[in-house]
Amino acid sequence: MGKIIAVTNQKGGVGKTTSSINIAASLAATKRKVLLVDLDPQGNASSGCGVDKDELEIHILDVLMGEKSAHECMINAEQAGIYIIPANSDLAAAEAHLLNADHKESRLKSALLPLVDEFDYIFIDCPPSLSILTVNALVAANSVMIPMQCEYYALEGLSALLNTIGQITEHVNPDLTIEGILRTMYDPRNRLAVEVSGQLHEHFGEKVYRTVIPRNVRLAEAPSYGLPALLYDRLSRGAKAYLALAGEMIRRQESEAEANSSVA
Ligand code: ADP
Ligand code: MG
Repeated sequence: MGKIIAVTNQKGGVGKTTSSINIAASLAATKRKVLLVDLDPQGNASSGCGVDKDELEIHILDVLMGEKSAHECMINAEQAGIYIIPANSDLAAAEAHLLNADHKESRLKSALLPLVDEFDYIFIDCPPSLSILTVNALVAANSVMIPMQCEYYALEGLSALLNTIGQITEHVNPDLTIEGILRTMYDPRNRLAVEVSGQLHEHFGEKVYRTVIPRNVRLAEAPSYGLPALLYDRLSRGAKAYLALAGEMIRRQESEAEANSSVA
């Protein structure tokens, strides 16, 4: 059964979409079957994987409204080596559409259920808010990956997110865990970044990925070609960092599985 990972942080511009696309593609490069769900009305994950979001006939809003199945909505983003459920600006109306709907918080979960056996990983690229969309992602997910920039207000934002995660685990999804904290656009020469990084380690210990994502212009350029960095410039520091992260994720998962089996 595949793992559903919500990539989330209510702060915009921290690297959620960049991380979603590039981790998905890196895992796909190691022969994992990966689905990326674009849950942001900006549709950046869709366009970043080469999907023309303005030409979409079916998109994630249709799935959330129960009008189409996730399977019908899925596109093979061949170049990126992954499947994607795309989004566009229509998704901005989700909150209003779902306002009086039944099970409005678990719609994504129900929609993805038939797909979990088909994929090794399903990533959900969340919007920069703690809206009904993000709640749907947190209800559907097994774990949360939190990309963050190590700057002054980063930790403050994190506590709001942790509160929301706490409420979700308390009321609807008790098995939700933190997959990992990912330091993005990281510059080890920046004293504040190193300080915040130290605080993250204090709070989250091993949950902080060892791999850091450096600031790298190739990561910013690749989406305009509809490609993950790996396919745009394989030797760039950005592409290599996300490949290293995929390796770290796989090793973590293997050692967790080993630990669980030795307990059983
Ligand atoms: P979010 O999805 O959290 O809003 P994005 O992934 O869209 O964040 O990133 C915000 C901006 O920063 C984008 O223009 C993106 O291309 C750029 N960016 C993200 N990560 C990096 C990085 N490691 N190096 C350079 N630019 C980056
Ligand atoms: Mg984004």
